[in-house]
Amino acid sequence: MGSIVLPAIIMGFLGLGFGLALAWLAKKMAVAENPLVQKVTEILPGGNCGACGYPGCSGLAEKIASGEVPVNACPVGGLRVWQELSRLLGSSETLDFKVKKAVLLCQGGKGIAKASALYEGVKDCRAVKLLGHSPKLCRFGCLGLGNCERICPFSAIQMDDKTGLPQINPERCTGCGKCVAECPQKVLALFPYGEQVLSACISRDPGKIVRQNCSRGCIKCQLCVKVCPEKAITLENERIQIDREKCTLCGLCIERCPTQCLVRVFQETSVPEKISR
Ligand code: SF4
Repeated sequence: MGSIVLPAIIMGFLGLGFGLALAWLAKKMAVAENPLVQKVTEILPGGNCGACGYPGCSGLAEKIASGEVPVNACPVGGLRVWQELSRLLGSSETLDFKVKKAVLLCQGGKGIAKASALYEGVKDCRAVKLLGHSPKLCRFGCLGLGNCERICPFSAIQMDDKTGLPQINPERCTGCGKCVAECPQKVLALFPYGEQVLSACISRDPGKIVRQNCSRGCIKCQLCVKVCPEKAITLENERIQIDREKCTLCGLCIERCPTQCLVRVFQETSVPEKISR
């Protein structure tokens, strides 16, 4: 019994000694944390998704607190977070806080875009793109294999069984841009949230080819360009562009387009685009 007690007492003293030494060192070498960084971190969503380009929310919090990046650097936070950060940092500078949401620039769903063959391959848009074997004849359109749905951290995208295309829920979309980066076809894009008209086709193929491949594709007829009273529509690099500043949403282009490839998006919005900080 005596042979156990002595080592146990020695071990106990050693443990206590090391514990006290560690506590002293931790206090001595502690780096004082900036309380502002702590507050900014608490306001940020805490998802550590990396959509801002920094390693986690605390990495971005340091940059915001030091003023190196603007308060709207977290795309996921949205207006509420940006406003809270503005209040916390108390600057009178006015920033353009454009809330952005993802949109699909393709309408080539089932029965609209022609299938290349009965596709039985891997259900992965990136892999299909790499292999150069598309389920559809249009080489520009959505492949419909759902990488965007799988990568969305907010369940804002759902593949529609009927059309085979992704459906984006703007209420859930935070504009983080993960789907845009993931899509190998580049048919997803972020647009400022607010009613606008878009060309939902990014095909650069000549009109004749588009007509053969898809009934909702842009055939470059330029009837929309001609009918627009504001001269807001142009054909650039074989794609229809609409100047949001000039567009009055009259809808004449939508009526005139023979393939209905112009669409109206974000029809109901009350999100302000500018706030002060
Ligand atoms: S939008 Fe892009 S990622 Fe999503 S299903 Fe279509 S091709 Fe795939």
